[in-house]
Amino acid sequence: MERLLDVEGLALENNPVALVLPTLACLFSTLSGGRKSYNGYQVLRVNLTSTRAFNTINGIYLTNTFDFLTPPVRNNATDLVVCPEQLLPLKGLFRTLRIPYEVAVPNLEKEIAHETIENNLRLKSEGGMNWNAYQKLTTIQNWMDDQAHNHPQFLSTENYGTSTEGRHLKVLKISTGGGGSKPAVWLDGGIHAREWISPATVSYIANELIKIAEEGESNENYRLVNAVDWYINPNLNPDGYEYTQIDRMWRKTRSGNMGFLANAFGCIGTDPNRNWEYQWGGKGTSNNPCSQIYRGTSAASEPEVKLTQDYVYARREQIKLFLTFHAYSQMIFTPWGYDDVPIDDKEDLMIVARNAAKALKDVHGTEFQSGSSPELLYAAAGGSEDFAKGKAGIKFAYCYELRDTGKHGFILPPGKTKAYLYFVHKWFPLQLHYHYQSSLFSLCSFLFPL
Ligand SMILES: [Zn+2]
Repeated sequence: MERLLDVEGLALENNPVALVLPTLACLFSTLSGGRKSYNGYQVLRVNLTSTRAFNTINGIYLTNTFDFLTPPVRNNATDLVVCPEQLLPLKGLFRTLRIPYEVAVPNLEKEIAHETIENNLRLKSEGGMNWNAYQKLTTIQNWMDDQAHNHPQFLSTENYGTSTEGRHLKVLKISTGGGGSKPAVWLDGGIHAREWISPATVSYIANELIKIAEEGESNENYRLVNAVDWYINPNLNPDGYEYTQIDRMWRKTRSGNMGFLANAFGCIGTDPNRNWEYQWGGKGTSNNPCSQIYRGTSAASEPEVKLTQDYVYARREQIKLFLTFHAYSQMIFTPWGYDDVPIDDKEDLMIVARNAAKALKDVHGTEFQSGSSPELLYAAAGGSEDFAKGKAGIKFAYCYELRDTGKHGFILPPGKTKAYLYFVHKWFPLQLHYHYQSSLFSLCSFLFPL
């Protein structure tokens, strides 16, 4: 029977994972046209229905030497990126141990190159902010400022600090009056850099809300902006998002730069969604800086996290709903994420989550599962929705895992961006309408005080 490795002590001896430890060549980046090439890299999807498969893959996961797009979960499939040098030994190991797998992406570079070419064409043909392509950070942030400039009566932006590399943490505020006395909703995106659909979705929602506010009373959803204030940051990890122009698969922040070697080994940056100051350092995190789930040197060690925490905490009385957007897997997570432990108001949280999932399905036919992350997948301590709920006391805090379920993963074709976003346009007002209809709890009374 395979021996499980633990995060702190990597006991590799007598373990088959030692066979597939990556070669040095594998860890060094190859640059092609100024960006990291994933030529020959494959995404393998491994079926974890057997104990042997789960233990082996989990052991490999805990060595922090592979990029898992989805962490291994018993009885599920997991996706991991495998570099050319690792392919033969790893596939050999799977065959020896009779672990079923399939090649989900035969050449990752091809997917990335295709996305880059198509996205750049779209960016060229349509200048400025739009949702037919994935936009650069500066385009999104300039758009936010331009919108605020054009609609000073209900819109403003605020830079509430800077990232490690000095980029703005910018929030868009929608308020039709009341001087901050109205209940508020917080939306953020892009905390994981490579999840490009997230900033696109969050900025899209912002644009829809702006259009509603512009139309005023004549819009049937006007109460969404009249009864509620909105705080929206589409790019919580601006350094990481910018760096995805060089390495499309970058996930973390860009702090703790230790030079060329550390960069080549992926050992810089912290997973900002393992860094929040609530149950920091627990399950589903790593103390290894080279890990994709590195929790950082201390809670809120990342300026992006610390400053956002402070911003949200200072407004904790006003913010009644906290939504953070990730990709991929089509799920709505309720707290707690840090462990599979009971939560007092679980039923309230689930009513909203189930209604939100129903609204999504009604409009677009897309299935979203709802529940806590440990219930549905895995525990992950130090996540933002746990901070919002546990530390800031915001009753309704959720984490969305947007489309898809792995066909494209993070590389959702830009040509279909609008299709992926379309459901947001339809579902968001509808979703809040469902919140409103679920008059079992206080959410409705603040969203739509009639
Ligand atoms: Zn994420």
